[in-house]
Amino acid sequence: MKVCKFGGTSMANAETINKVKDIILADDTRKFIVVSAPGKRDKSDIKVTDLLYQAYDEQQIKGDCKETLDKVRGRFESLCKNLNLDLDINPYIDEIEKRMPTSKSADYAASRGEYLAGLVMAKVLNFKFVDAAEIIKFNSEGVFENELSNDLIKRLKDEKGGVVIPGFYGRMPDKNIKTFTRGGSDFTGALIARGVNASLYENWTDVNGFSVSDPRIVKNAKSMASLTYEELRELSYMGASVLHPDSIFPVKVEGIPIQIKNTFEPDNVGTIITKGLQNNDKPIVTGIAGRKSNTSVLLKKPMMNNEVGFARKVLSVFERRGISIEHLPTGIDTMSIVFSKALSKEEECQLIEGLKIAVNPSHIEIEKELALIAIVGHGMASTKGTAAKVFTALANNDINIRLIDQGSSELNIIVGVEDSDFENAINSIYRAFYN
Ligand code: ASP
Repeated sequence: MKVCKFGGTSMANAETINKVKDIILADDTRKFIVVSAPGKRDKSDIKVTDLLYQAYDEQQIKGDCKETLDKVRGRFESLCKNLNLDLDINPYIDEIEKRMPTSKSADYAASRGEYLAGLVMAKVLNFKFVDAAEIIKFNSEGVFENELSNDLIKRLKDEKGGVVIPGFYGRMPDKNIKTFTRGGSDFTGALIARGVNASLYENWTDVNGFSVSDPRIVKNAKSMASLTYEELRELSYMGASVLHPDSIFPVKVEGIPIQIKNTFEPDNVGTIITKGLQNNDKPIVTGIAGRKSNTSVLLKKPMMNNEVGFARKVLSVFERRGISIEHLPTGIDTMSIVFSKALSKEEECQLIEGLKIAVNPSHIEIEKELALIAIVGHGMASTKGTAAKVFTALANNDINIRLIDQGSSELNIIVGVEDSDFENAINSIYRAFYN
């Protein structure tokens, strides 16, 4: 039995929801359906989730959000009308309006897009609606309760018919709603897949799976028929935006494959993500993804290598400031600390001061506007010359490499370049492997 998650573009209007319905009804093993809030209907449109965040802000600032909430009301009213549903959405919107002034965070408001979309989808399919608040749990600090949620989700297995669950949110013990980070419905889908022990987690979106590179950067980038969990994790963490980066954890535990499919081209195979490699003739590089605007702090100190505890002292300075570190390339007397946070001038001064006190380096330099690019592929571990190909491609295109890091798993090579070289670098590397 399958868990299917449909994203915002699939839920955007009556026409797309009818496509979703056809997909679900074409296969009676598609039993657990997770939905996102309606997304954009065209380029200039606003996602329902964004409208709800806006409504919350307006409520905080002006004490009123009626106008924006009425836009949400309008979207759901026209959905119900165009789908000929016997569902009056107004009492639900009235309830949101009533609770808005006392909401302590934006999470309740933001989650209502998924909640209402779930009600609509359940009605369209004549499936049971199960509120995510009943099965996805957070503790009183807002930390996700993995095992408790899994135990609650497991009970869904006993349901005889189909079930619709809204993505993106759950509930805390004080009954307040808590959301995951943006795009979190993918994670909800993965949790449901794990809990009901699905044979497959289908993630329906608006593209034909993963491309080797972002098609907005590399024109006609090739799509990838299969990836491993690890490759997917690297790529989505480094900016490939098809799937929420945390989504692989729940399914990986049970070895459940994820299939990325396109609601608008349902016959396209998309990308399947599994534990092992799908075939032996897989390309060496399966993905090239990256992120701009990282920061690197370069520390120099003679005889650093002999100073026991040097790294610990440096890292604790970052820890105290809540900065999560991405990479740590080191030399004999140098260490670079790379992180994705952009610092304000004040934060920069505080960090430098902290490092001076902790390790008294001879030189500290902060480099900004650093783009990190990951070249990912399991095949790299057994193939010589991959790094040479990457560096030659960059050199031939006159791109200066500011940082090199090869992951210890030999699953990736990471290069750092100037933000302004980012697009050119990705295109050059792509062409070196796919021509
Ligand atoms: N609707 C939420 C968002 O726009 C969550 C999701 O779609 O997964 O981020």
